[in-house]
Amino acid sequence: MEISSQTLDPILLVAIVGGVLLALGLGFWFGRSRAQARLGEPEEEELTERIEPSGAEPLEESDVAPQEEPLQEAPDLFGRLTAGLSRTRSALSAGLDAVFARGRLDEEAFEALEEALISADVGVKVSMKLTEALREDARRGGLDTPVALRAALRERITELLAVHDSAMAPGPKDGPLVVLVVGINGGGKTTTIGKLAARYKRQGKRVLLGAGDTFRAGAIQQLRIWAEERAGVDIVAHEEGADAAAVLFDTIRAATSRGHDVVICDTAGRLQSRGPLMDELSKVGRVLGKAREGAPDEVLLVLDATIGQNALSQARLFGEAVGVTGIVLTKLDGTAKGGVVIAVSDEMGLPVKFVGVGEQVDDLRPFDAEAFATALLADPDEIETLESA
Ligand code: GDP
Ligand code: GDP
Ligand code: MG
Repeated sequence: MEISSQTLDPILLVAIVGGVLLALGLGFWFGRSRAQARLGEPEEEELTERIEPSGAEPLEESDVAPQEEPLQEAPDLFGRLTAGLSRTRSALSAGLDAVFARGRLDEEAFEALEEALISADVGVKVSMKLTEALREDARRGGLDTPVALRAALRERITELLAVHDSAMAPGPKDGPLVVLVVGINGGGKTTTIGKLAARYKRQGKRVLLGAGDTFRAGAIQQLRIWAEERAGVDIVAHEEGADAAAVLFDTIRAATSRGHDVVICDTAGRLQSRGPLMDELSKVGRVLGKAREGAPDEVLLVLDATIGQNALSQARLFGEAVGVTGIVLTKLDGTAKGGVVIAVSDEMGLPVKFVGVGEQVDDLRPFDAEAFATALLADPDEIETLESA
């Protein structure tokens, strides 16, 4: 049967046209509300655009991690540390379980324990020292359960780490605290400076950053983003290729005349094995002392925890060039080698002052021996209690 338009029932026609209009209307409404919902979300593309003013060196994506919403309250630092150390903790736990699979704490068990520590990058010397201390504890008795062994190890590690004072120097009364940050490329210096600036700012300090990495393309811009968009602090920068010592000299002078409380100086990354670059660093150190007597008050060596034992050689050579006063261990969140904190602290005789457990502005934790040992050795039940506390 053929249907011509004339035979269509007018009522049916009205219904069809109405339906089409309704569908169009609904479609438009849905589209709009979805667009609005998207506006509320952080847009990664928008962020990249904001941090790349035209003409500036394009940033490498990995340099500046996109940030989560800033935390409104004080961050749950213990939870972050515990989460950050999870890979190291599981590695150690597996080792400890192997020790107890033997059923008794005999000499072979102690050897297995030593191996577990070494494989978590605690370092051969320190692992032997810890195992020896535990043998002693065992001789005195009471070390016959996994729980007791864990607790004893935790105590011994805390003891080792607590030898040093992890507090930052207060700085002079009549001038800014000057912090110089050094290390190899990609260790996390600039990121750490950004996080540290945010910490001081939160404590009510006026912070000035010095863009002393004038060597790597994009380094100045990277520090600027941390200063202006994340920490909300001031920055002094010259152009790329400028003399690093001169930039930092200016930074300290500016801080002194404008009344900043804290100056944090970035530097170009360098391999500890390259003599001329280490000499350049010594010069930077000396020049800071000319800008403010006694500066720098702190020289923080930033070490990437994932490099394990190479950290020891870095600590030694940087120490010779600029007199390192403390260590910041970064990227503990990405490694099963977090034990290197213990090796560096014990063998280099240097305090660990902060640990980095992620790329976010709140992922820098002042180092605390007991909290660290707890996060390293807590068993799963305990972790649950700690995290929900
Ligand atoms: P610099 O060359 O020493 O200044 O190193 P950067 O600060 O540029 O950091 C190099 C990379 O390491 C960047 O992608 C950072 O986001 C990342 N990074 C820095 N600290 C941490 C940390 O504690 N955890 C993780 N997962 N990544 C980090
Ligand atoms: P090479 O020394 O002849 O191998 O040439 P490079 O291109 O490695 O270095 C040229 C100059 O750039 C050096 O004399 C240094 O002053 C500087 N330079 C090279 N690599 C680095 C680095 O990793 N950090 C810093 N700060 N400067 C560097
Ligand atoms: Mg840098």
